Amino acid sequence: MESYAEPEASPVAPSLSAEEQEILRRAQHIADTVLLPRAEETDRASEPPRDNLRVLAEAGLLGITSPREFGGSAVSGACQRAFTETLTAACGTTWFLMTQHLGACGMFAGSQNPALRERHLRDMAAGRHLVGVAFGHLRRPGAMLRADAAPGGYVLNGVAPWVTGWPLLHGVVYGATLPDERHVYVYAPVDENAEAICSSRPLPLCAMNATATTEVCLRNLFVPESNWIKFSSREEMARGDTNGIAGATAPPLGCARGALRVLRTAAEKRPLPFLPATADALEAEIDACRSESLRWADGPKDVPEYKPGALRARAWAIELGVRAAHMAVAASSGAANSLDHPAQRLFREAMFYTVIAQTQDIMAATLSHLTREPGG
Ligand SMILES: Cc1cc2nc3c(=O)[nH]c(=O)nc-3n(C[C@H](O)[C@H](O)[C@H](O)COP(=O)(O)OP(=O)(O)OC[C@H]3O[C@@H](n4cnc5c(N)ncnc54)[C@H](O)[C@@H]3O)c2cc1C
Repeated sequence: MESYAEPEASPVAPSLSAEEQEILRRAQHIADTVLLPRAEETDRASEPPRDNLRVLAEAGLLGITSPREFGGSAVSGACQRAFTETLTAACGTTWFLMTQHLGACGMFAGSQNPALRERHLRDMAAGRHLVGVAFGHLRRPGAMLRADAAPGGYVLNGVAPWVTGWPLLHGVVYGATLPDERHVYVYAPVDENAEAICSSRPLPLCAMNATATTEVCLRNLFVPESNWIKFSSREEMARGDTNGIAGATAPPLGCARGALRVLRTAAEKRPLPFLPATADALEAEIDACRSESLRWADGPKDVPEYKPGALRARAWAIELGVRAAHMAVAASSGAANSLDHPAQRLFREAMFYTVIAQTQDIMAATLSHLTREPGG
């Protein structure tokens, strides 16, 4: 088996604090020494990679979106993006499992329910209490999960079509639609509600199969007021999606960096003059796409050029992730098709990054970016 685990320079942004740079160095070390060497094995496994998550938790990296008083490090958005690139360049499955939990931690941290935070956030930041999320369905036109007010809380009914990491989870944050069409986000522990919660078997997936993503059906699940997280709305969700268009380029860019590593390895093994030049060109394009994304992610959002510019950057990153992985396949020849080879894994992961947190605008921008004139 070939080794693709050369240590790699992390794209540490100079604006990051010393603590954030140290967090990124720790993440890079784990990526190089633990995640990457076993990434194909992780990808093919029938269970999610508990061990990888344990190593990340022991390094304090499951607390990066939690406040300090709860044992976290509350890093900046810039640090989170660099962190995401580092992990997705190594092992998409581990990153995706972790990022759902980090999102849940962020929601607990931002909730106006301090008692819920007190109860769980310390354990969540330490990785002792893993929490999934189920609210992507709220972007769909019709309500899939409904919540009705009941004495002392809410009753939830319907289907959450995607819940990643089910066998590992202690609880899930569900997003549901109220009768007045507002959204409510609540926390529900997994075990205490065995009667009302029914998970499918893990969905058979082409990419991220080992994340054990399931469809979860809720039947009269009572959630007490003490587990309320927040109210929101379709409009607020759309605003968050719009503001986050360009920040979410980190996963495909990380995937492109993983593909670049494969290209460099191929160039070392085969004295073909075009391989180093191709790798240099890809590296320059990844850097350019990152700069363009950050320009929109960190710039003002209330200017007319923001949304079209951010969508162009997102579509570019999505397409670049797939194209870079395709380059890694081409440069690795027939071996790329082996399930032991990183090129095919990255190719499938790039496909997945095309659709996560997809909105109609992002779908349109991606398709427009991919459409060519006949003969073009
Ligand atoms: C492997 C995997 C794991 C995932 N894990 C999670 C998870 O743990 N938690 C979670 O919350 N989500 C999860 N997701 C959801 C993920 O973020 C969604 O893929 C993404 O939001 C796109 O949604 P969808 O695939 O359900 O597509 P769609 O339902 O097709 O939605 C895509 C966009 O198209 C729009 N749209 C769809 N149909 C129509 C229509 N008829 N008219 C107008 N507009 C329409 C929607 O409004 C939406 O903006 C996961 C997805 C995958 C593939």
